[in-house]
Amino acid sequence: MITVVGSINMDLVVSTRVFPKQGETVLGDLYTTVPGGKGANQAVAAARLGSEVQMLGAVGNDAFGDELLAGLEAGNVQLQAVERKDGASGIANILLSEGDNRIIVVPGANHKVTVEEIEVHKHLLANSSVVIMQLELPIPVVQKALEICYEHEVPTILNPAPASGFNSELLKYCTYLTPNETEAEEIFGGNWQQALEQYPNRLVVTLGEKGAQFYDGEKHVVITGFPTKAVDTTGAGDTFNGALGAAIAENMPFAEAVRFANAAASLSVEKFGAQGGMPVRDAVMERMA
Ligand code: ADP
Repeated sequence: MITVVGSINMDLVVSTRVFPKQGETVLGDLYTTVPGGKGANQAVAAARLGSEVQMLGAVGNDAFGDELLAGLEAGNVQLQAVERKDGASGIANILLSEGDNRIIVVPGANHKVTVEEIEVHKHLLANSSVVIMQLELPIPVVQKALEICYEHEVPTILNPAPASGFNSELLKYCTYLTPNETEAEEIFGGNWQQALEQYPNRLVVTLGEKGAQFYDGEKHVVITGFPTKAVDTTGAGDTFNGALGAAIAENMPFAEAVRFANAAASLSVEKFGAQGGMPVRDAVMERMA
């Protein structure tokens, strides 16, 4: 069983020809709501690859909450550890214009998850094959979950996004850390390549279409990506993390697990939407062949 301790959001996507200036109102072109949140996305990615997945997190008692739970259930994600909180579900207000975006995330129910709830669900974490986390829940909650897993020798993947919430204490307890290049720079500075050498086979930096890089104890290893025609790269990192979790849960050797994650993520960028573009296992195996 893979457990994802993470965020569940509704993405409110508005596309517009021009962004409004301060105090200005403009007419947009399109409005859609799409289930998102890094936690939910990574859970759906792993489930679509055939893994057994449960989520630990929260939605609000609003209509978005109903819709988000129904979506996760349809995606085969088990929800017994997802609480309903008073108030609004988490949302991401996403403005799109000509390839540019401006995003406001309001955490809502995600920030109402407590350390005590993690304690209550300790047994779920302790019995997991892998636990996947990001930084969209309160940091003490993530820290607690990491500590419980560490104590029970359950492997963990921490996707340090958004990187602003990162602290080095988290790195002590996680098994794998998976920043993208921007996050790696925010956490380790411009010299993040050197940081790879400090955390062999643990720190893997994703490089967009170029793939992902880690240090194997002797040398730097770049697992090259699978070139493809990218339509929408939203959720590439989430697919990478969900797939890496699926592979590690199956005890795949690390380099092979990263290649599997690259293949899954490359398929996800070929379709619109984060969860909508996530591949099934057969498609990933075909790409890897
Ligand atoms: P994030 O989506 O978090 O910003 P990256 O851009 O590094 O992270 O992408 C994560 C992974 O998705 C990469 O390691 C790679 O496997 C895959 N990927 C991203 N963009 C592309 C692309 N244009 N073509 C193929 N694979 C891609």
